[in-house]
Amino acid sequence: MKQELICIACPMGCHLEVDIDDNYFVTGNQCKRGEIYGKKELTNPTRLITSTVKIKNGINNRIPVKSSGEVPKDKIFLVMKELERIELYSPVKMNEVVIENVCGLGVNIITTRSM
Ligand code: SF4
Repeated sequence: MKQELICIACPMGCHLEVDIDDNYFVTGNQCKRGEIYGKKELTNPTRLITSTVKIKNGINNRIPVKSSGEVPKDKIFLVMKELERIELYSPVKMNEVVIENVCGLGVNIITTRSM
C-alpha cells in the first residue's frame, strides 16, 4: 500500500509517495529530509507546538510559547489542555520555562518573547 504526503520540511513541498509494504520506502523527495519526514510521518508523527498562554499585567493578555522539542501528534491535545490552565505574571523573559517536562513528554514549554 502506498500513501501520498506533502513534505513539510521546507517550502518546496515535494509530493512524496511512501510504500508502506516496502519498509516505508519514500519516493518523490528531492533531499534526504523528505525521506526522513515521510517515514516518520507514517510511523511516529511529531510536531513542534506553538501557541499562547494567558499573562497578567503585561502589555497584551496572552504571550506566545512553543515546545522546546517535537511532541507526538496524538499528545498535542493533552499539551494544549495544559496550556489553557497556565497563567503567567509579567515580567516574563524570552525562553523562560513555563512548563517543565510537559505531560511527561520530555520537552518543556518556553516563552518566545519577553513581556
Ligand atoms: S523533500 Fe527536501 S526539498 Fe522536498 S520539500 Fe522535503 S525538505 Fe524540501
